[in-house]
Amino acid sequence: MTDYRQMWTDLDMDLETHDQLCAVLPAAFGDTYLSQENRPENMAFYDFVVSEIHGVRPAELIELQKEGGKVFGTFCVFVPDEVVVACGGAVTGLCGGSQFWVPEGEKVLPSDMCPLVKASLGAHFGKTCPYFSVADMYVGETTCDGKKKAYEILGADKRTYVMDMPQMKRPKDIEKWTGEIADFAHEVESVTGRALTPEALGAAIRLINDKRRALARVFEARKAEGCIPISGKDALLMMQIAFFDDPARCAEMANKLADELEQRIVDGVSVFPAGTKRILVTGTPLAIPNWKLHHIIETSGAAVVCEEMCTGTRYFENLVDESADTLEGQFQALSERYMKNNCACFTPNPGRIADVVRMAREYHVDGVIDANLKFCTLYDVEKPSLAAALEAEGIPCLALETDYTDNDAEQLRTRVGAFVEMLGE
Ligand code: SF4
Ligand code: SF4
Repeated sequence: MTDYRQMWTDLDMDLETHDQLCAVLPAAFGDTYLSQENRPENMAFYDFVVSEIHGVRPAELIELQKEGGKVFGTFCVFVPDEVVVACGGAVTGLCGGSQFWVPEGEKVLPSDMCPLVKASLGAHFGKTCPYFSVADMYVGETTCDGKKKAYEILGADKRTYVMDMPQMKRPKDIEKWTGEIADFAHEVESVTGRALTPEALGAAIRLINDKRRALARVFEARKAEGCIPISGKDALLMMQIAFFDDPARCAEMANKLADELEQRIVDGVSVFPAGTKRILVTGTPLAIPNWKLHHIIETSGAAVVCEEMCTGTRYFENLVDESADTLEGQFQALSERYMKNNCACFTPNPGRIADVVRMAREYHVDGVIDANLKFCTLYDVEKPSLAAALEAEGIPCLALETDYTDNDAEQLRTRVGAFVEMLGE
């Protein structure tokens, strides 16, 4: 592995604490990932990215900065990457997925907050994540209360721009989001010093659409009946890495993986034995390196075949209309696509329930696990209506709540195990 210590020092990171993180990650990854059998060969790329997770991509972003490009750190799939890419910038997802960062986050936030927000602020203030350090600015959004208040704290320490998310999906809300995207574009122009043109934005829209198409191909392969060509853990890893990888490379690697999975289906190569129960997981995002729930499910006799979440289908479903050739038209097309995301921050939000029911059919699932992070009120409140809709469709559902610690791992294992057993009856 390349030595990145000088780069981390230059990024003003806390090397001593960061070393502790680097010491635990390989073992966690080995136990969770490398213990799997019959993985697709193209997962080698994603394994390599994890092995160099705090090195190779941050180094690329620094090279981009040397050439005058800017790096934008984001926390939500509503922020349109296309605008940043069109101005020669790069986007890196910043949501924290490890308990390692939570205690540092609790120094600046109440402890009874969602671990994703606490971990994100902990990674920033603890100076133990190069992606936070390398970002020229952060881009927030007014989705949930926890995040919008956290941006005030982050914004006091690093330039932070906040997009004002509509809370409903009426035509005037879509129009409002169009205006927010236009305002964001002005901000990106001022930070990058590059004027946005319809040609550049059109190219960026096509690039990000290509990435969505490639990720969708991998998910399409997961729909195959009688064959599960990739584990849920591996598909999740691909999604998590998509948030900070270069979009063209992300599309290329996902397409290669999809080629292999499609061949596996033809050859009848399955990662799991015939009859393994198929699970759809829905709920709050699973930011890297949060692999806890998938690992428990896939070591309890079941397989995850779909994630209806932002680290899953919501990231790539729906393409941006590529036909507009004015900035105004392109902002409108972007708004229409992004507003199709059925995040629980919207009220009402029947679209998510319809999506889960549709996907349960498309992916031929035996059961749904609806899992949210502790203290996420938005997703917690949607649990009963989702459970009722699934019950009406005859689809078994298990509702769970968890965090980033291992304290509840055995309890989760017992509940998931009982659920999987029940599916076999
Ligand atoms: S769950 Fe909602 S707030 Fe969180 S990343 Fe997804 S869209 Fe954004
Ligand atoms: S999981 Fe829920 S509480 Fe946490 S950041 Fe996402 S929407 Fe907010």
